[in-house]
Amino acid sequence: MESLSHQHYPDATLYVIGTPIGNAGDISLRALHILEITDAVACEDTRVTKNLLGLYGLDKELISAHQHNEREAAEKLIARLQRGERIALVSDAGTPAISDPGAKIVDSVRNAGFNVIPVPGPSAAITALSAGGLIDESFLFIGFLPAKTAQRQTVLRKLKDSPATLVIYEAPHRIRDTVRTLADIFEPSRTVVIARELTKLFEEIHRCPLSEAIPWLEENRNRQKGEFVLLVQGAPSREDDESQARHILSVLLDELPAGTAAGLTAKITGIRKNRLYDMALELKKTD
Ligand code: SAM
Repeated sequence: MESLSHQHYPDATLYVIGTPIGNAGDISLRALHILEITDAVACEDTRVTKNLLGLYGLDKELISAHQHNEREAAEKLIARLQRGERIALVSDAGTPAISDPGAKIVDSVRNAGFNVIPVPGPSAAITALSAGGLIDESFLFIGFLPAKTAQRQTVLRKLKDSPATLVIYEAPHRIRDTVRTLADIFEPSRTVVIARELTKLFEEIHRCPLSEAIPWLEENRNRQKGEFVLLVQGAPSREDDESQARHILSVLLDELPAGTAAGLTAKITGIRKNRLYDMALELKKTD
């Protein structure tokens, strides 16, 4: 670990800085120092960043760099980097380039041969994952799903068999629709974590089976307000499915003929009946 006195802040460099997602106390000491020594701060919305910097007693030249002007903004930043300046890049909240502008600027700046230094800070995705307690081995960052229902359904169907925890960003006006679509497409027993207003006064992190998520959201309208991250437990592995099917089959085989037991198990697990019938014959042999 480098001590605070052994930091390097080269000039002619773009510093990509993560900023708080709701709690001003979550800015890092390094981020504050760099914001203080940079020549200018490129930001999504100058009013939002002016307010944020004001909280820390900073007043800097701001350069607008949003979704619709990233490449042009990059040209301006590159011209300033050529003069040897240090430039900070921030988004409204959280980590730039994560469902936020930033990637195109970093791409252009790197292509122009300049140094880019990341200054890590909060991100809603990682914050939710750290406290959600889902134990899948990996996660898949989805960000915002398409706004149109049909497109959203298509994306989610493709993700249904992913073993990774899915990380989805959602706005309050779509939270119910999205959770409903998730409950329609995924197994109702899968755990969902609804993480809202993270790091803020009304922070709430609720875990439940998908089948119970809509009743929970509807029980209190306040639960549909604010900013949301949804975490959806990954698909059960094939091995887990097979061992569960084997267990169900063996219980049913005590009472029923192989064909009926295989048929019922197919309905419960979704595994093909032929495959289960073979499994039933194997189980009968080893009895
Ligand atoms: N770049 C940001 C990051 O690193 O997390 C994300 C920016 S994206 C435009 C904004 C979305 O992130 C929100 O709609 C919400 O889904 C999620 N988000 C941001 N802050 C949040 C918070 N405090 N609690 C829950 N979700 C949050």
